[in-house]
Amino acid sequence: MGLNLAINPIKEWLPQLNNPLLIAGPCSLESEEQALETAKLLARDHRVFIYRGGVWKPRTRPGSFEGVGSIGLKWLQLVKKETGLPVGTEVANAQHTEEALKAGVDVLWIGARSTASPFVVQEIADVIKGTDAVVMVKNPVNPDVQLWMGAFERINQAGINNMVAIHRGFTPFRETNYRNYPNWKTVIELRRLMPNLPIICDPSHIAGKREFLFEIAQKAFDMGMDGLMIESHIDPSCALSDKAQQLTPADLALLLDKLVIRNQSITNPQFENELELLRSRIDSLDSEILEVLSSRMEIVKEIGYYKKENNVTALQINRWTQLMDSRVSMGKKLNLNETFVKILFQLIHEDSVRMQTEIMDN
Ligand code: PEP
Ligand code: MN
Repeated sequence: MGLNLAINPIKEWLPQLNNPLLIAGPCSLESEEQALETAKLLARDHRVFIYRGGVWKPRTRPGSFEGVGSIGLKWLQLVKKETGLPVGTEVANAQHTEEALKAGVDVLWIGARSTASPFVVQEIADVIKGTDAVVMVKNPVNPDVQLWMGAFERINQAGINNMVAIHRGFTPFRETNYRNYPNWKTVIELRRLMPNLPIICDPSHIAGKREFLFEIAQKAFDMGMDGLMIESHIDPSCALSDKAQQLTPADLALLLDKLVIRNQSITNPQFENELELLRSRIDSLDSEILEVLSSRMEIVKEIGYYKKENNVTALQINRWTQLMDSRVSMGKKLNLNETFVKILFQLIHEDSVRMQTEIMDN
């Protein structure tokens, strides 16, 4: 079911926004100089609206750089004063939140590991209560849209209406080129369930490597995301965390130059008419697909009764193997993606077997 929370559009708390929201800055703040020099270069690019810098760093394993801690908040204040950019940092417990609010940090974000823990989110919400903070929530490490939504509910119940979701990818369950796999399905589901929630993409933590940043950022705009959070460091080769995925401010500008930013919608009657026509063709094809599937299921049922009468199993593995091979090769001839055809027929077959075992057991 959809969740209709009162959420402000970004422009309400960031009136200077005239482009997609771009948040940029180092993974971690490392020194006053690194924080400030990076910020000055980023601030020259008018496409950057918010400066990010991690102060407390959640590390998967202990022993790596865990952030400079509270001193970093002073550097964020300095960045704000020197560049005029609003600043943001990650908070992971009540104490971080108190300190960050006290230091005048404009944007607080909840990291992927914290979103996965309702206790942590509630602890942060309790401290934020009654302030006009902007809170961004990264997706939990596992693709659980309910857990992600739950975090927004907790923050919203604390009276916060300035909220943004950040898609930073999910823990991969198999070998991938990316550090975290971008599960667009989950993002689309969040958009469907919370249509007024701005969603931005963090290509840095999805990619894990500079070479993949562009393709992910472009995909994010193709999918209608509202902006990006990208890590940028004055000298990535010396970065104390996430060195392979950070860009110099100059390289970030080049990446932004290449990106095609698409409109989420346009008010052009000719475009709308054409789109309407194409959509109505899709609608009628979809209804044919469903009718064909329904006829297919009727036959599946008939076979189920026949198998029951003759006392043979619902699952017939040879038939299933042959069916899959033949459908995949038919699909190929029709220019359909092989994985798509496989998954489609797995679903169809799974439900056919379910139906036949039900017939047998009743
Ligand atoms: C980060 O933004 O530097 C960070 C630690 O991100 P995530 O919570 O997405 O891992
Ligand atoms: Mn990082």
